[in-house]
Amino acid sequence: MNFDTNCLHAGYRPGSGEPRNIPIIQSTTFRYETSEEMGKLFDLEAEGYFYTRLQNPTSDAVAARLCTLEGGTAAMLLSSGQAANFFAVFNIASAGDHVVASSSIYGGTYNLFAVTMRRMGIQFTFVDPDCSEDELNAAFRPETKALFGETIANPALTVLDIEKFAHCAHAHGVPLIVDNTFATPALCRPFEWGADIVTHSTTKYLDGHAAAVGGAIVDSGSFDWDAHADKYPGLTTPDDSYHGVTYTERFGLGGAYVTKAVVQLMRDFGATPAPMNSWLLGMGMETLPLRMAKHCANAQGVAEFLQKHEKAAWVRYAGLPGDKYYDLAQKYLPRGCCGVVSFGVKGGRAAAERFMAGLKLASIATHVADAKTCVLHPASATHRQMNDAELAAAGVSPDLVRLSVGIEDLDDLTADLAQALDRV
Ligand code: PLP
Repeated sequence: MNFDTNCLHAGYRPGSGEPRNIPIIQSTTFRYETSEEMGKLFDLEAEGYFYTRLQNPTSDAVAARLCTLEGGTAAMLLSSGQAANFFAVFNIASAGDHVVASSSIYGGTYNLFAVTMRRMGIQFTFVDPDCSEDELNAAFRPETKALFGETIANPALTVLDIEKFAHCAHAHGVPLIVDNTFATPALCRPFEWGADIVTHSTTKYLDGHAAAVGGAIVDSGSFDWDAHADKYPGLTTPDDSYHGVTYTERFGLGGAYVTKAVVQLMRDFGATPAPMNSWLLGMGMETLPLRMAKHCANAQGVAEFLQKHEKAAWVRYAGLPGDKYYDLAQKYLPRGCCGVVSFGVKGGRAAAERFMAGLKLASIATHVADAKTCVLHPASATHRQMNDAELAAAGVSPDLVRLSVGIEDLDDLTADLAQALDRV
């Protein structure tokens, strides 16, 4: 089936007389007739459910839908995007290991890597996503276990050269992990460009309605763990904590990575999504192609409107000819560059604050990427503890406004922006 059809049907096919929508299995446990039956589940010899911390039918159906949309072989849902990125890396890297990551990533992910996971003994090297292949190669060490980047970075809106990153990762025998949150598979499918693992904060466009925090990991099944068995003993040698199972041997290249993340990391860390939240995500994904097309068209319209406006100092949107990332966007994001646009208000911090106060339709919120337009002035919100010099170092200018353009009528949106800019 094609993408739009899969958004509605993949992952769940009801039998005769069964519910048309994915059922919400709001149950922690599952009943069995004999202990022997349950034992087989624990030994991973039979498929089935025994405890929702590990697996739940609602979450699995929605994970299977996302797996199909990304073109992967296995997927899992988690309780947040933070959990997804933590699991994705920790599944293959532990104390003494090293990871290379793009420096242009979500601040929460940067902190997870640079502070929290570093405390766990994993070292990170951050590279400019626009660096040359030579510079990228130079960041690798013998103990490097993964390369990480975001398709469209939050909030910098840089576009990752996925092929360049994948080529480099593979030359060093490690997988490329791509956080595809802002693009979603409706705009870019990183596996088609060589990425090996995709992560999501499903909290954003996949859910689409700001209803539930969630995360996901999808495996392409294309990275050959066995060919680099010495680097990935956790996948290629027996796991003492799980009855001596060797994941690549039992589940093949298509299933090893996600099975390990479920039975080992989910078992131990328990970052489990609530079935109701998984259901909301599945419902949101049904309209993903429609919403993304409208987000992109509206954002393009807003970016063009701002570019012509005398009170806008600059506009960053990869869909604008002349934008630094226009050419990469033409290659990786031909259907659009998502709904997030950033721009500067002439007059700096005070002018940006006056503009924000004047908005009537767009809501001030720290969220991005849902159906209703929202707006953030980082210098007075997420980055308010920083002075102007510190803001510059963080790549956030005092005049920067981040607009998450929703799916309202474009004329209503530009009218709201125009009247708020008039007050500046
Ligand atoms: N990855 C990206 C690109 C994000 O934008 C975010 C959140 O904004 C996250 C990960 C973290 O996701 P969550 O807030 O669902 O934990």
